[in-house]
Amino acid sequence: MRELSHWIDGQHVSGTSGRFADVFNPATGEVQARVPLASKAELDDAVARAAAAQVKWGATNPQRRARVMMAAVQLINRDMDKLAEKLSSEHGKTFPDAKGDIQRGLEVIEYCIGAPQMLKGEFTDSAGPGIDMYSMRQPLGVVAGITPFNFPAMIPLWKMGPALACGNAMILKPSERDPSVPLMLAEIFKEAGLPDGVLQVINGDKESVDAILDNETVQAVGFVGSTPIAHYIYSRGCAAGKRVQCFGGAKNHMIIMPDADMDLAADALVGAGYGAAGERCMAISVAVPVGEGTADALRERLIPKIEALKVGPWTAGDDVDYGPVVTAAAKENILRLVETGVEQGAELVIDGRNFSLQGYEDGFFVGPHLFDHVTPDMDIYRKEIFGPVLSMVRAASYEEAIGLAMDHEYGNGTAIFTRDGDAARDFAHRINIGMVGINVPIPVPLAYHTFGGWKKSGFGDLNQHGPDAFKFYTRTKTVTSRWPSGIKEGAAFNFRAMD
Ligand code: NAD
Repeated sequence: MRELSHWIDGQHVSGTSGRFADVFNPATGEVQARVPLASKAELDDAVARAAAAQVKWGATNPQRRARVMMAAVQLINRDMDKLAEKLSSEHGKTFPDAKGDIQRGLEVIEYCIGAPQMLKGEFTDSAGPGIDMYSMRQPLGVVAGITPFNFPAMIPLWKMGPALACGNAMILKPSERDPSVPLMLAEIFKEAGLPDGVLQVINGDKESVDAILDNETVQAVGFVGSTPIAHYIYSRGCAAGKRVQCFGGAKNHMIIMPDADMDLAADALVGAGYGAAGERCMAISVAVPVGEGTADALRERLIPKIEALKVGPWTAGDDVDYGPVVTAAAKENILRLVETGVEQGAELVIDGRNFSLQGYEDGFFVGPHLFDHVTPDMDIYRKEIFGPVLSMVRAASYEEAIGLAMDHEYGNGTAIFTRDGDAARDFAHRINIGMVGINVPIPVPLAYHTFGGWKKSGFGDLNQHGPDAFKFYTRTKTVTSRWPSGIKEGAAFNFRAMD
C-alpha cells in the first residue's frame, strides 16, 4: 500500500500518529493509498518550524517573493498533465475538468505576481507641520488554510498564493480524500524558490484542524468546505482571537425567464448541474422556470440532453461528461436524498438510481437525476445534495422566483437567463447572494475579482483572492512621524488634530 506523507521543512515526512485514512480511486472503488492523519503534536511542531522560517520570508522584499510566484506559474504549466492525472485519479473528475481545476488556481498565482503593487501602502505628506503619516501592510505570521476535496488544486492555490506572496508562512491542511496534488504543489513551490518551512502541508482530519484552532501562533485561518464545519471553525477560530474566513455549502438557483433563449438555458443547466458530478460549490442544483410554458419548454429540452450524458472514468477519454463522486459515503448520501425526494412527492423525471457502468461496478458512479415539481419544504430543495441531481421548482412569477432564491439559507451563487436587461439588472441589484450570473450559469469571478458567498455560504467579511486576499493576509500598521524644527513646545495632553 502506497503511503503518503506530510510536507515539512521542504521534505516529505512520514506521519507518526499511527492514524491513517484511505485514499480511493473513485472510478474503481479501490483504495490506492493511505494518508497519515496528523496528531496535535505533529501540527504544533510544523507550526513552530513555520514560525521560524517566516521571519526571513516576511522580511524578503515583495518583488523577490513575487518572483517565486512567477517561477511557480511556469512549473505548474510544465506539470499540468501530471497534476491533472493525479487529480483525476483521486477525485474522479474528468481530465479536462481536472486541468480547469488547476488552471483556475494558477490564475490566482499569476495575480499574486502583482504583490508588490498590492502591498504598497499609503502615504500622506505633511499631515501636520513636520508630520508625515504612512500605512504599511505587514504579514500576519503563520496562517492556515483548510480545504475541501472538490477542488484539490484550485482552492489550495487560492490559499497559498496570496498568503505566501504577502510574506506569511502557511500551514495547508488539505482534504484527506485527495491529498496528493497539494503535496505535489508544495514540491513545485520549493523548486520555484520558496524557502523550506514557509509552506507546510499537514494531512489530517478533525484532530489537526482542532490543533490549528488551538495553536496560538496561528494568526489566521481560511477555510472552504461544508457549512456546519465552516460555522464550527469560524466560531472557534474567532473565539480564540484569530482572523477567520470560512466558505460553506451552496444551493444555487438558476431562474429562467419566459423570454430566455431556451436552448442556451438548457445547455447551461446541463453543464452547470451535472459537470463534475454536481460536486461544485457553484453547481446549479435548482432550476426555477417562470411560468408553466417556460417550465414545459425547458423540461422538453432538458430530458434528451440529460439522457445523453456520458458518465465514466477519467481514463475513458475527453467525451466523458462527468465521473464518479468522491466516496461510497457520498454516493449513499446522494441516493438517500433522492429517495426522500420521491417519498416527499417530487416527480423523478430521470431516475439514475440503478446506474451501473460495466467494468466499474464498484466505482462510485451516480447516474443523472432530474426532479420536477419540487417544492421548498422538501429535503432535496433545502439540503445541499452535492451530486448529479437537478431539481426544478416551478414559479408563477419573477417575484416568486427571486423570492425562492432569497429565502434559501445558502447564498453562494445564482443566475438568471433572460433577454430583458431590466429584469437582469433588477435581479443583480436585489438578490442577497454573493455571485450572480446573467446568462452565465457558473459565475465564478476571475482571480483579480473576489470570490465569496453570502448567508450560510460565507462567514467573515473578506472574500477569497483578488484585492480582499491581500487585506486578509496582512495587517495594517500606521506610522505618524514628526520631525520638529524650531523650539520644542513641551508635552501635549489633548488628542491632537492635525492642524
Ligand atoms: P468538509 O466540510 O467535509 O471538509 C472540508 C475540510 O474540513 C477538510 O479539510 C476536512 O478534513 C475538514 N473537516 C471535515 N470534518 C471536520 C470536522 N468535524 N472538524 C474539523 N474539520 C473537519 O467538506 P468537503 O466534503 O471536503 O467539501 C464539500 C463542501 O465544500 C460542500 O459543502 C461544498 O459546497 C463546499 N465548498 C464550498 C466552496 C465555497 O467557496 N463556498 C468551494 C468548494 C466547496
